[in-house]
Amino acid sequence: MYFNKSTIVFLDGEYINASSVKTGLYSQTLNYGNGVFEGIRSYNTTDGVRIFKAKEHFDRLHASAEKMHIKLDLTSEELEHAAYKVLEKNNLADAYIRPIIYLGENMSLTPTDVVHVAIVAWKWGNFLGDDLLNVMLSSYQRPNPKSCHIEAKVTGHYTNSILATTEAKSKGYHEALLTDMNGFIAEGSGANFFFEKDGKFVTAPLGNIFAGITRETVFELAKELNFKVEERFFKPEEIYSADAAFFCGTATEISGIRKFNEYEFPLSWEDSNSQLIQRAYQRRVASNEYTNLYI
Ligand code: PMP
Repeated sequence: MYFNKSTIVFLDGEYINASSVKTGLYSQTLNYGNGVFEGIRSYNTTDGVRIFKAKEHFDRLHASAEKMHIKLDLTSEELEHAAYKVLEKNNLADAYIRPIIYLGENMSLTPTDVVHVAIVAWKWGNFLGDDLLNVMLSSYQRPNPKSCHIEAKVTGHYTNSILATTEAKSKGYHEALLTDMNGFIAEGSGANFFFEKDGKFVTAPLGNIFAGITRETVFELAKELNFKVEERFFKPEEIYSADAAFFCGTATEISGIRKFNEYEFPLSWEDSNSQLIQRAYQRRVASNEYTNLYI
């Protein structure tokens, strides 16, 4: 599904066949979950294939690596260039791009010298955006920022997300919404969360959540559309009086939510400001106005 016989990936400076790549059994990433990665989208824009907010994503990859004591030698510009090459070599336009920095042999709990840089990509269809999600309050909390760097995109952190999404799906929901260690709403398993009340938006502040690039884009769009956004802590109970809500993330884009547990949001998606944000986001990614290009 992700690759076939002819798929080309970037690995340590070379463009090679995906099926020829081997990773080691003694890798620190495989054994202990210490690796960093990104989730990026490219779009077929009016000006050709463009990676959305490439610089922001590759800069965040650098920040994640630094937090985890991983030496990443390629610059953001070099990584962006390699990502465009991977798209070109695989003839991809609307795609999902996954750079991953994974580590070589090291069975001890110390920084690892051998650092591998890979970029893979696969086709990611056009967004439809009309399916609303049913979301449950997860029994899992997001990792405590005192036990990890929650703002870094670390492979091992995603065991928490897998548990939360699996629980939600097993109970018939599409997705999970998780609290932080203090019981405030934090975010989804792979997306940030906003709710709408009286035309305004509320979202969790930075600190106990992953600092989403889409979340930042929502702030930009809300400002342009003259919608207020409050960043503050709130308990799950407050969502039961909200008018509408959505998840946002690179993969999810802006996904409207129909229900939170048993509560159905009363405002129809079509009449919500949330939907205006969703449409503005679609317009933003389809233009190359805010993307960087180093090729
Ligand atoms: N929260 C979590 C836990 C995530 O994994 C993601 C996806 N990377 C997000 C939020 C959204 O981040 P972004 O908008 O940068 O994709």
